[in-house]
Amino acid sequence: MILDNRITAMTGHQPHPGVSYTATGRPAREIDLEKLVRSLGIENVEVIDPFDHKRMEKAVRDSLNRDGVSVIIARRECALLTVRKLRQKGRIIPYIVDPERCTYCRVCINTFACPAFIDTGEKVKIDPAVCFGCGACVTVCPYNAIVPQEGSLNWLKEGVGV
Ligand code: SF4
Ligand code: SF4
Repeated sequence: MILDNRITAMTGHQPHPGVSYTATGRPAREIDLEKLVRSLGIENVEVIDPFDHKRMEKAVRDSLNRDGVSVIIARRECALLTVRKLRQKGRIIPYIVDPERCTYCRVCINTFACPAFIDTGEKVKIDPAVCFGCGACVTVCPYNAIVPQEGSLNWLKEGVGV
């Protein structure tokens, strides 16, 4: 698995040869990771948006069931960068849990565990001070209890941060 978050996250958001600009912000030719991997003789290469949970799960299962080397390139811009851009546009609107639909099954906490989730002991809530409104948790809830508020974005469906 190659985690391609379009930035050098570990040292503070500098560009690297896998992105299309230099440290001074000038345009640069970006290294094509997919071609690079294929050039090593690896045939099974998939580029997947990690917010697409179903596709990612299938790709991992397929890779495990296949002989030989497979590579999954998980490509999505670092959420911190996306959030910074959205804040500048005033577009951070948190998601909420509909208490009527929440069965307190805790699937969201046990399998996804976004830090914005709050376990009240009877329901799950979303802390609006922590949620940055990505919508990635929506497909995790089996009861469709995680819903947008008016104006919320869904990063996967609306192509935000890709
Ligand atoms: S997965 Fe959905 S129904 Fe289950 S606890 Fe979380 S929000 Fe509630
Ligand atoms: S919308 Fe995104 S940030 Fe908010 S609770 Fe869901 S996964 Fe976490």
